[in-house]
Amino acid sequence: MGRRRKQVVKIVRRTLPELYLCPRCGKNTVKASINKSTSMATVICSSCSLRSSFAAKSNMVSVDAYCIFVDHFYSQGNPEETAVA
Ligand SMILES: [Zn+2]
Repeated sequence: MGRRRKQVVKIVRRTLPELYLCPRCGKNTVKASINKSTSMATVICSSCSLRSSFAAKSNMVSVDAYCIFVDHFYSQGNPEETAVA
């Protein structure tokens, strides 16, 4: 009687930012983020300051943005010039 079961709900959240490998400096310091209100994806390397920003699709996740960033880098060599202000 009066038995109560305590439900322990564990919420595991990844609070650490996901970092990716930079195609220019080779360090694991690239951070990709997507601004859902502006639908813009921004990818920045905190080591060599290589960065790119472009329009993001609604279902895009950060790793997709990173893939486009790498693609830009290898196809054009300078993603900074493709950055949309
Ligand atoms: Zn870099």
